[in-house]
Amino acid sequence: MDGFLCAAALASLVVTVIEAGGSSWTYGETNGPAEWQTSYPNCGLTRQSPINLPDPQEMDFDSSLKPFKLSGFLNPQEYKLKIFNNGHTVQVNVEEGNLMVEGGGLPGRYKTAQFHFHWGRDDSQGSEHRLQDRGFPLELHIVNYNEKYGNLSNAVARERDGLAVLGFFFVVSDKGDNSGLTTMLNKFNDIKSKGSMAELSGFSIDSMLPFASGNGARFYRYSGSLTTPPCYESVIWTLFENTIPISAKQMAMFRKLQEDATPNSGHVIVDNFRPLQALGRRQVARSFDVNSASGQHLSLLALFLVILCYI
Ligand SMILES: [Zn+2]
Repeated sequence: MDGFLCAAALASLVVTVIEAGGSSWTYGETNGPAEWQTSYPNCGLTRQSPINLPDPQEMDFDSSLKPFKLSGFLNPQEYKLKIFNNGHTVQVNVEEGNLMVEGGGLPGRYKTAQFHFHWGRDDSQGSEHRLQDRGFPLELHIVNYNEKYGNLSNAVARERDGLAVLGFFFVVSDKGDNSGLTTMLNKFNDIKSKGSMAELSGFSIDSMLPFASGNGARFYRYSGSLTTPPCYESVIWTLFENTIPISAKQMAMFRKLQEDATPNSGHVIVDNFRPLQALGRRQVARSFDVNSASGQHLSLLALFLVILCYI
């Protein structure tokens, strides 16, 4: 082999090894979450995700956590999406378009790269984060990178401010299908097996969210990591208080996606969530004051009663 061929062969070997390493982790027993840190040391660090969000009363109210402003999410004509099954989850990549996330106390503007989901085998579990020990059947992660780092792969390994992930919990509703999810779920048939991909046109990301763009005001905030290898601790996490409704029938469609490429293998993707990680010395903040309004009314009432008693 001449030098060029040697170099090309070596490069392809390196790519193969990296891809093999990258795809070897699972949510099961073998190469499961407890073993991730063997191949990916960051997974064993102390600022990991997901976490159990404590009682909002125990969180600090942070007045710098202003409402979010999401721009470019509303009109599907203005962006191009691709949906694919990577064997771990269903992921939608933003191929073209200018979807931006700012406000929410973020240190700059963040550009949306992709969103994906985590879900359970039944409705009792599935979300990665928990709220006061309560799990949800499905959790959406919208992954955004800090604009100053230029692209996702450049931002992902940065300390603390590289990524901003927006998390939403779903609750199963008996009020029928969530029409905001229909266009996306209709594509699930085309991406049933691992490695399959399809264009997702005409899907408004905004219609999936539990508030109008720019209206996300009530949320929880902490500093953490990617919840999959390589577990970089570069994520500013936001979990919104508003949940998204989904019907039981729609929920079942997630549980039909396969973790392998063999047609009708029956090896479906379920329970693709990482176990809870210790909060450690970190604080979870909230963007809203739980003692406002009703609390103030109560203290005014108490003052009034005290005055009455003394008259
Ligand atoms: Zn995720």
